[in-house]
Amino acid sequence: MTEQSQFRSIPSVDAVVREMETMDAAIPKKLAVTSSQAEISMLRQMVAEGGQAKSARRVAEAGLRRARKILEMSPRQVVNATGVILHTNLGRAPLSEEAVRAVAYASSGYSDLEYDLSKGARGSRFADIDAVVQAVVGTEAALVVNNNAAAVFLALDAHARGQEVLVARGESVEIGGGFRIPEILEASGARLRDVGTANKTRVEDYSSAITERTAAILRVHQSNFTQIGFTGAPSRQELAELAHQHELLFIDDLGSGSLIDSSIYGLAREPLVTEAVAAGADVVTFSGDKLLGGPQSGLLVGSADAIKLIAKRPFARALRPDKMTITALHATLLAYLRGDAPATIPVWQMISAEESTLKDRAMRVSAGVDDVRIVPSISTVGGGALPGEMMPSVSVQLGESYGSVEEVSRRLRCASRPIITRVRDESVCLDMRTVLPQDEQLITEVLCGL
Ligand SMILES: *Cc1c(COP(=O)(O)O)cnc(C)c1O
Repeated sequence: MTEQSQFRSIPSVDAVVREMETMDAAIPKKLAVTSSQAEISMLRQMVAEGGQAKSARRVAEAGLRRARKILEMSPRQVVNATGVILHTNLGRAPLSEEAVRAVAYASSGYSDLEYDLSKGARGSRFADIDAVVQAVVGTEAALVVNNNAAAVFLALDAHARGQEVLVARGESVEIGGGFRIPEILEASGARLRDVGTANKTRVEDYSSAITERTAAILRVHQSNFTQIGFTGAPSRQELAELAHQHELLFIDDLGSGSLIDSSIYGLAREPLVTEAVAAGADVVTFSGDKLLGGPQSGLLVGSADAIKLIAKRPFARALRPDKMTITALHATLLAYLRGDAPATIPVWQMISAEESTLKDRAMRVSAGVDDVRIVPSISTVGGGALPGEMMPSVSVQLGESYGSVEEVSRRLRCASRPIITRVRDESVCLDMRTVLPQDEQLITEVLCGL
């Protein structure tokens, strides 16, 4: 057949849609149309490159696969067997049961989100959440925004637009996902003034860089790397004192920050939000979905004056959180207020899980499964918290009889709830620290069916 006749035998959208509808009567018409259009346009491209035309039925099959993928829930639930607790690609912190209930409760009907029930008039969406943040952290004021990147941006926008901000060279970092300190500064209209050297910064480096154009000192947590050897930076207190002597603002971007001392669990110490506040920072920013274990959000805490100015900026309105975020964060913070966060917030349940618990889980998961071994492994916190910190963990390792590592990983990703694994020593491993209790049975079933 000539190329022209190949083109002529490309089926029409109508024909493909009809085929799709006979194969699956439940497929929404709109979706059948757009899916068949997409498949036909791909087919045209293939024919233009010398390929063969396909029948309406073949195109409809591909269209149906495309349509069904669109009809799936998104994002889909997956099993995190990577051992990385705050896996940014896997949605960071899973919410506590209480936070999940709170989201369903607040979003399934109307709510008093911006309504003051005692006055019968307009209220603030932040009134309750601010009070809880203040109670947990002990600051005068708080503000919740879309994420920590927004929090840092807003602090700079409100306090340093058109002025200079001092940042240590070793803290002018990239966090990943497009968050680079110099770029955030530029976007906020502030000018970056680098101080010190890549590995060492002294108080004098900051003080000698202060001019009448300086508005603030910004300290940034080195979230995803560690420096060893000849290093050093001034303490938070020293920077706060210096800033205040010169009537500058001291902004402390903690990244993850923590409300629980991670050293209790044998880890290094992630800076505590309360410590950063006590050291004298005017504004402390941190994420809601890192070690806090809540929804994606950014928290700003600090002095009433500094926070109020930020809250009044137009960008604060543009970056405000929705009711589902506010209620999930509220429920998460209540756990800290009551003191039961380690027992009820998944991130802390995983951090605090004992090796014996993980071993029990590995035994349950692998019961009746052929060719698996229970092996020691290492899990990490991830998500820009506690870089380089390793937690001894327990993994289920699949033997060679399962086939190549790529093929086994792919088949596990195709499970009804996809299982995301890690490859160690050239074999597929399922780290039990990040596996949730409700995942256990599914894993066993999938492994038995491999
Ligand atoms: C993670 C991180 C951010 C960005 O926080 P998001 O909540 O992801 O926007 C900013 N600064 C530091 C130091 C971080 O670790």
